[in-house]
Amino acid sequence: HLSPEELKGLVRTVPDFPHPGIQFRDITTLIGHHQGMAASVHHLAAAARDAGADKIAGMEARGFIFGAAVAVQLGVGFVPVRKPGKLPIPTIGIDYALEYGTDRLEVDPGAIGAGENVVIVDDLIATGGTALASAELLRRAGAAVTHALFVIDLPDLGGADRLRQAGIAVTSLMAFE
Ligand code: IMP
Repeated sequence: HLSPEELKGLVRTVPDFPHPGIQFRDITTLIGHHQGMAASVHHLAAAARDAGADKIAGMEARGFIFGAAVAVQLGVGFVPVRKPGKLPIPTIGIDYALEYGTDRLEVDPGAIGAGENVVIVDDLIATGGTALASAELLRRAGAAVTHALFVIDLPDLGGADRLRQAGIAVTSLMAFE
């Protein structure tokens, strides 16, 4: 398997997306590389196994790519954390603050058994707002949420520290300062 350092070399950095001054870390090039995708999933699945995951939850949309593959590798189910209005049943949802405005995430209230250990997977953690809202939502649905896994951490934005303060252990495969 490619090492995390080799995986970092497969991530594309796009300047000024989606706004001027933002350096967008793009996993399209990583997942388009067979060994890049396989090794990313391998390393994340090892961490999820160590965390004792009963289920994996991934956030729409890039969390689906890694989360679903990790769930299959582990032999556990996958819980999609969805953007609003996508699920065809009554959902439970959480509104959370963005830099400008608010956003919302929803899950199927029947997706998680009481006390199941649900490990969060997403492509990237920046401020941690998305992951913290997801953890709160999954907890309301009955999950125990103690671990979150990311391909990429942007440590300067403080998200991993915020999650740790909320009692969630954080693992990431690489960091961009
Ligand atoms: P946070 O909520 O501030 O931690 O932002 C994390 C969410 O925004 C994740 O769902 C990411 O997919 C997305 N995101 C933020 N910055 C980037 C980036 O540079 N590349 C890819 N996704 C990003």
